[in-house]
Amino acid sequence: MTFTLPALPYATDALEPHIDKLTMEIHHGKHHQAYVTNLNKALEGKPEADSRIEDIITHISSFPPAVRNNGGGHYNHSLFWTVLGPNAGGAPTGALADAINSTFGSFDDLKTKLSEAGATRFGSGWSWLIVTPDKKLAVTSTPNQDNPLMDIAEVKGTPIFGIDVWEHAYYLKYQNRRPDYLAAIWNVVDWNKVAELYSKA
Ligand code: MN
Repeated sequence: MTFTLPALPYATDALEPHIDKLTMEIHHGKHHQAYVTNLNKALEGKPEADSRIEDIITHISSFPPAVRNNGGGHYNHSLFWTVLGPNAGGAPTGALADAINSTFGSFDDLKTKLSEAGATRFGSGWSWLIVTPDKKLAVTSTPNQDNPLMDIAEVKGTPIFGIDVWEHAYYLKYQNRRPDYLAAIWNVVDWNKVAELYSKA
């Protein structure tokens, strides 16, 4: 049993013009594939190679750095592809919208918080919307391929939405303009999927 690259749930050009086809091809086909390949290498011959990725991530402190980096990369990107989509954008509805309004004030305030968390993350990392252990929404960010599910995370919780702010996520189209990428991404967020993850968290 080894980890495998999940198929993109839409075509590589489906998020155009906000996220371009070439970026999606390289990001999914090369970067995510490399995390999967290197995770398998790091776990070769170990019993944990048969684990669910979530079970590895939640106990990441007992694994070497190659598993933290590549296992995190695999988990984070697997989530990322599913919370984006064509014909997305818009705003959350239902219980998720109520929780956003009561926690952050408004949907716009949530977007501002997530964008700020991404824009101020020095170097590479992720900006997250999470459900904390006491079932509250929170915004946080992590460096590199860490995530809030990891036992080493400063702020812990279940991620229900994340924004990849590694340069490989936006550089071909936006170059050094990370804030422009962060402004464009709202057009391709699948809030129905985020709401589904919220209801399960
Ligand atoms: Mn990435």
